Amino acid sequence: MKENIYKCYTIVGGNTCKHCNGTCIKHGKVNNCQRYKCKSCSKTFMSHYKNNGCLPQINTSIVQLLKEGCGIRSIGRLLSISNTTVLKRIILIAKKISKPVISFNKTYEVDEMRTFYKSKTRLLWIVYALRSDTKQIADFVVGRRTIKTLKRVIDTVLLSGAEKICTDKLHLYKYIIPENIHQSKRYSTNNIERKNLTLRTYLKRLSRRTICFTKSVAVLIACLKIYFWN
Ligand SMILES: [Zn+2]
Repeated sequence: MKENIYKCYTIVGGNTCKHCNGTCIKHGKVNNCQRYKCKSCSKTFMSHYKNNGCLPQINTSIVQLLKEGCGIRSIGRLLSISNTTVLKRIILIAKKISKPVISFNKTYEVDEMRTFYKSKTRLLWIVYALRSDTKQIADFVVGRRTIKTLKRVIDTVLLSGAEKICTDKLHLYKYIIPENIHQSKRYSTNNIERKNLTLRTYLKRLSRRTICFTKSVAVLIACLKIYFWN
């Protein structure tokens, strides 16, 4: 008798739309599981899913695990979804994130971090600017280890009318930053150097040189976007 009551509840619960709370009608069966269609927004959904990749809360779980230092395969194992789904979702989530608004007249720290993709001979730079007072990331670029990559970040910082730009003693900076706002003193980049360490701890693809390295630049950019701005 108790079972019947439970079944009754699930059918009633299935009748409201998960997207707009509208009324739904039955829309066929898939693997002996009832499918519903919403009358107002005409989206379809099932009462319960066998494939974990279809669950509505799966994207938030992927983001949480990604930020705690889990690799692609370990996320797939923990959530019982395929590796391809994890990669596709990471890129989809990152597409929806937009850059934060940069405020005027602030002090920024700019630094570059060395990494590679596919093999240890294909080197990359992650160049990013950190606002000194709030510790927020203003902008970042992933590219080859040239002055052009540095210039893309420096240009956005200069456009915001930066009061001071602190960098390390890499000689390339003095060609692209005006001398009156450039600073390369000893303790001026402490915050951003600490941030490098945080990135290497909590993003699995940056932590080691032999396993769990990045294979695609697009996924690396997506992971950084999620870590910085989501
Ligand atoms: Zn609906």
